[in-house]
Amino acid sequence: MKLCTFQIPGNGGALAGEVRGDHVVAFNDGSTVVERLRSADRTPAAGDAFALDEVELLAPYVPRTIFGVGLNYREHAVEQGAELPEEPVVFLKQPGSAAPPGGPVRCPQVVRRLDYEGELAVAMGADGRIGGYAVADDVSARDLQRREQHWTRAKGADTFCPFGPWVTTADEVPDAEDLALRTWVNGELRQDARTSDLLFSIAELIEFISATIRLEPGDLILTGTPSGVGMALDPRRFLVPGDIVRIEIERLGAIEHGIVAA
Ligand code: MG
Repeated sequence: MKLCTFQIPGNGGALAGEVRGDHVVAFNDGSTVVERLRSADRTPAAGDAFALDEVELLAPYVPRTIFGVGLNYREHAVEQGAELPEEPVVFLKQPGSAAPPGGPVRCPQVVRRLDYEGELAVAMGADGRIGGYAVADDVSARDLQRREQHWTRAKGADTFCPFGPWVTTADEVPDAEDLALRTWVNGELRQDARTSDLLFSIAELIEFISATIRLEPGDLILTGTPSGVGMALDPRRFLVPGDIVRIEIERLGAIEHGIVAA
């Protein structure tokens, strides 16, 4: 089941529902995406149906907590000139960084080195189980990331976590650790990898985080980015207003967002 939150342009509030083919069908029981992740209820939506291209997809939900994982692909650690980590490098992105799959991502005035990180996102269900998966951009301000000891501003800025386009429930993705992941900037392919290259598996990440933090339904774990970020290109190429970032993961769909000046 593909869980989404959407609105009808010019017609009011957010609705939760299910994407079925080229339509989105609203839940008529008032349930939200997080409630569906918690309950494991996969009863098909039975409310009003809308053409997918006539609705605006919002962030699937605002997570209680967004975890990021640094250096979780070998080639990305190499391109960053970093040692391979012996344990997962876990950080937080603030919930307010959650943004719609279509963006926009707003570049703060103080940021000069804005970069993308295409990533597989894990949405938690109940009792530490995986509820589903989505595509995310772990947008990063490389200048702040280098300069500041903690990545709170560099990674957690407003709109720095577009994700979606929906959450595909785990029962539909038996092979989450063997999916093609690709990122384009303005149509140019920048990242091309498979999630089978993760250094720490999804189960290992969940176990590591759960050692000190109880994971709740809807908590989002961004599992790390493969090689090909703008910072590692020669010459370096950072995002500027007007750029379009597209990230696609097999089975999960694609997100595509523009960059605008804040
Ligand atoms: Mg990342």
